[in-house]
Amino acid sequence: MTMQTTAGRDERTSTDYLTVQIWRGDRDGTFQTFKVPVRENQTVLDVVTEIQRTQDDTLSYRYACRVGMCGSCAMIVNEQPRWTCRTRVDKLGSGPLKLEPLRNLPIVKDLAVDMEPFFDKWKAAHGYFEPGDNPPADFAIVEPSSSEREAVDEAIECINCGVCYSACDVVTWNPDYLGPAALNRAWTLVNDVRDRGQDARLTAVSGDAGCHSCHSHMSCTRFCPKELSPTFSIAGLKRATSNRLWRRKR
Ligand code: SF4
Repeated sequence: MTMQTTAGRDERTSTDYLTVQIWRGDRDGTFQTFKVPVRENQTVLDVVTEIQRTQDDTLSYRYACRVGMCGSCAMIVNEQPRWTCRTRVDKLGSGPLKLEPLRNLPIVKDLAVDMEPFFDKWKAAHGYFEPGDNPPADFAIVEPSSSEREAVDEAIECINCGVCYSACDVVTWNPDYLGPAALNRAWTLVNDVRDRGQDARLTAVSGDAGCHSCHSHMSCTRFCPKELSPTFSIAGLKRATSNRLWRRKR
């Protein structure tokens, strides 16, 4: 039992406390407030884990690697989508911490969302490699300096965290919109010289819910924790689909 004599500080132990508001339940849920000791180099994921382990083991959230590789710990932190394992609490300024599940995805419970619609969009955008009917038996040589490789060198680093999807206004307005991550993935494959599924892929990304629905608000690029630019990838798809249309008309 702590002796909380002033807001945010236990006078007996000289411990500073952080106030944390966490969304509980499904879409009809509400915020619950916790107090967590302030610790050196504490991340937002550390805070959530401490609450789950010491105060309420029914709190639901997701993480796996804790080092910015798996992309599973993303949440809304103080109104902005972020990866929580690499977000230090002391970099967020003073005041309470407010944690919510990612937007634009169904809430399973508390901070855990259903990622199925996100990955369904990858499939819909043909975000998978198509080797064709007779793939070469030997390894393909892709020169690192080739224009195709350089066009997607950064984009292939996507960790599927869903931050861009959660930040995207167009997904909010049109739930069918394929979204920045799926289109970014499609762009990496459009530039893959080994792939044999380009025509079907360009058709998939040029429909009503595809790349031409992007308004270039750039929220995806602003919030991507890997500092990628899905906006750049989507612009590439706009060019590729438009060029294909002109080629067909000639
Ligand atoms: Fe996450 Fe960036 Fe990939 Fe979007 S593009 S899923 S924000 S890593």
